Amino acid sequence: MAHLDAVVVGAGFSGLYMTYRLRRRGLSVQGFEAGTDVGGTWYWNRYPGARCDSESLSYSYSFLPDLDQAWHWPERYSEQPEILKYIEHVATTLELRRHFRFGTRVTSASFDPARDLWTIGTEPGDRVTARFLIMATGCLSIPNWPAIDGIERFRGDRYHTGLWPHEGVDFSGKRVAVIGTGSTGIQSVPRIARQAEQLFVFQRTANHCVPAQNAPMDPEAERAYKSRYARMREKARHSISGDVVPEEYITIMDLDDGELAKELDRTWAQGGFYTQYPYTDLLTSPEANERVAEYSRNHIRGRVRDARVAERLCAKDHPFATKRLCADSFYFETFNEPHVRLVDLRATPIRAIDERGVATSDRHYDVEAIVFATGFDAMTGALTAVDIRGPERASLRDAWKDGPVNYLGLAVAGFPNLFTVTGPGSPSVLTNMVSAIEQHVEWIDACLAWMGEGGASRIEAKGEAQARWVDYVNRSGDATLFPRADSWYVGANIPGKARVFMPYVNGLGTYRDECDAVADDGYAGFTVT
Ligand code: NAP
Repeated sequence: MAHLDAVVVGAGFSGLYMTYRLRRRGLSVQGFEAGTDVGGTWYWNRYPGARCDSESLSYSYSFLPDLDQAWHWPERYSEQPEILKYIEHVATTLELRRHFRFGTRVTSASFDPARDLWTIGTEPGDRVTARFLIMATGCLSIPNWPAIDGIERFRGDRYHTGLWPHEGVDFSGKRVAVIGTGSTGIQSVPRIARQAEQLFVFQRTANHCVPAQNAPMDPEAERAYKSRYARMREKARHSISGDVVPEEYITIMDLDDGELAKELDRTWAQGGFYTQYPYTDLLTSPEANERVAEYSRNHIRGRVRDARVAERLCAKDHPFATKRLCADSFYFETFNEPHVRLVDLRATPIRAIDERGVATSDRHYDVEAIVFATGFDAMTGALTAVDIRGPERASLRDAWKDGPVNYLGLAVAGFPNLFTVTGPGSPSVLTNMVSAIEQHVEWIDACLAWMGEGGASRIEAKGEAQARWVDYVNRSGDATLFPRADSWYVGANIPGKARVFMPYVNGLGTYRDECDAVADDGYAGFTVT
């Protein structure tokens, strides 16, 4: 059995960077990846319209300044093939593939306290031992197939957006159902509508949405950004969002209706997440939030011709941006097309899927293909999918049955030498993911270096430090409107999952300072042996 310094699970943005850093430090690293190549999220999510909601110029590694200058992103927000091309290029240039075993899923990991080693088991059956186990498995990587009666009986084509066929799908001339209207549904519906003969969009919850305002990359804006890249990266690292956003801060409740409308016209015209960044009270004041929500509903009412359909597309049951805000490109206009129909599952719930399509409480929809845009077992799913056992054989699944607990979103008490990249309890999904990933990878790398220098072989989060962190993360989340929504942030999309608001809300900059303070204090809150 091979013995490594570290095993890295996943070859997305985080696994690749982690491998690069550890190799540079002279450690032996073995990576495992279930896919047949690098890319992570961008390897699996190839559905039509898949695009990043963070701007291209900031959604890339910051540690490759020459590549920053050389790389050209064709659009303001990149489509999946462009991002995958970038990741593949980095993997090739840095020769990272040779460290990975592809088509190999890690299924188990158990820690031997006598030797301070993890034994890692995979499908199809490799076993290796390693001092450190680093789970770079992504926050949204275990697809959620909904528990709809009869799903397996369907005789047509069935797709999950997170497992999209590499050769693509041609829906031309077909009757198609899309189930799910989160970010993914909202991105894919306009594209599928271009091909399908008839498209039924099954919506359970209308989502708050802002226009992406995507466009071809403006050469002047690109030149200007590239001339200040290093400064932009530095700003992003210390920002709330992990992105470069305007530094103005506006309190919605200080504005009268006319001023607010003018202000929101401005941010809506900028598009994407600019609509949520400047506002100090958006996610804490229900009244401020409702004023923005109503503005956004009016936007939809102006874009959808049939007033009844428009009303159904307006989110009313949760505050604005408390489920992941969606960014759309012609989503709402798609419902003006004669061959596209919205099915409101609040009025007519799905009863079953059968051989020929979808049956709701009032009729049967005959379709030849069903697209499940039904999301993921987010944040914890990819971690609890692996049978991870600590020194006493206690399992991570059991430790997290009432919700994930950890220290700094990076380590779990009872599981020594295990690190989670962008785990629950860290800013991850509330920020630019690449910025969040880099912070975690660099912190873990520095921690391993420090251990190496001191001859330490084992690091483990202390129970009391973990309890304080969990309490802090929970209290911070509870001070916002986020927990009011039945979102995947709280695990509400997975039946039986404990309801806990999982991300850290105080921003990447603050979080970075807190993690650095722990390191500067000799890894306070950890037991190091
Ligand atoms: P999602 O946000 O969890 O949305 C899933 C959708 O499926 C929801 O509309 C949900 O309805 C519906 N659904 C689930 N089970 C259902 C059932 N049994 N019957 C009917 N409807 C059902 O998943 P997602 O859209 O894949 O997005 C997940 C996350 O991935 C996003 O929030 C985002 O963070 C990330 N993402 C990012 C990008 C990007 O940056 N470009 C693009 C896509 C996705 P309910 O709301 O009622 O549960």
